[in-house]
Amino acid sequence: MSSARLIDGRLLALLRKQSLQTSIVNFVKTFALPPSLHVFLIGHNPASHLYVNNKQKACRQVGIPCTIHEYPDSIQQERLLEKICQLNQDASVHGIFVQLPLPAHLPPQTLLNAIDPLKDVDGLHPYNLGRLMMGAPTVIPCTPKGCLDLIHSVKPDLRGQNAVVVGRSILVGKPMAALLTNHNATVTLAHSQTKDLISVCRNADILVVATGTPKFFDANFIKPGAVIIDVGINRIQNKAGESGVVGDVDTASAQKVAGFITPVPGGVGPMTISCLLENTLAAAQQQLLSSLATTK
Ligand code: NDP
Repeated sequence: MSSARLIDGRLLALLRKQSLQTSIVNFVKTFALPPSLHVFLIGHNPASHLYVNNKQKACRQVGIPCTIHEYPDSIQQERLLEKICQLNQDASVHGIFVQLPLPAHLPPQTLLNAIDPLKDVDGLHPYNLGRLMMGAPTVIPCTPKGCLDLIHSVKPDLRGQNAVVVGRSILVGKPMAALLTNHNATVTLAHSQTKDLISVCRNADILVVATGTPKFFDANFIKPGAVIIDVGINRIQNKAGESGVVGDVDTASAQKVAGFITPVPGGVGPMTISCLLENTLAAAQQQLLSSLATTK
């Protein structure tokens, strides 16, 4: 029986971080300061704490100073908006990132909309998302950008490919669909109300799943030879009570049919982080070049 090749997101992310290190050394030589990132960590979601720790560690590896702004679950929106406003005006701050999800009383889009679009390193401000929809140059949201890079690593030309994205969140599904469209794939965006999801998915040369449904997508959903990108991160307990992380794809089953598949962990997660670092460097470059242009 055929077995899909795993796409190694850890290795790809490591290579990207190595080249980023060199770019950051050059950036520091040119501008006499490093690109800087500020991360909002709000509430006590253990997964968010883990993701922010991983981001901080990756920043350290490449030479990006990363400041964490940590707040309790009960924090009022006004305090957060004030802090974002202060960071927007601080020329030494190049990137601002809000770790999602937020406590229920905080609408994510209110905070994301407050970030200066030039410092919006997750590309979720309406200005940047709008430019993505237009196919104009912009900040690409980190997770979809990482997914696209993983797809490109095994399929460089997406022209005419049938791509199916399952999940329509602003964070992943919608920007992913726009990005694939901009790369000339023929895209279907599916969600919980989609009829006959199995048939829709079986038509996909490229299947990106971001639903938060552990091991839902098995071999029945997969076209032979397809590229499968598993965005899902689901914490589960096995029968022995041990906890672990699985994706939205039943990898053992899907591997029998797919051509390429990303593992969880070790697929999309590391790429999301390396894209955040790249977006931070790009944001810093843009801000410093435009400030040089205005002082001339
Ligand atoms: P959301 O909960 O915001 O969105 C989930 C989407 O999946 C919704 O559009 C929902 O449809 C759809 N959906 C849920 N169940 C089904 C189903 N059975 N069939 C079809 N569609 C379904 O989640 P996110 O987009 O924020 O995240 C999705 C997953 O990706 C999560 O596991 C999250 O942890 C992970 N993630 C991983 C990242 C990484 O770096 N690897 C980064 C971000 C997220 P509807 O709109 O109709 O409700």
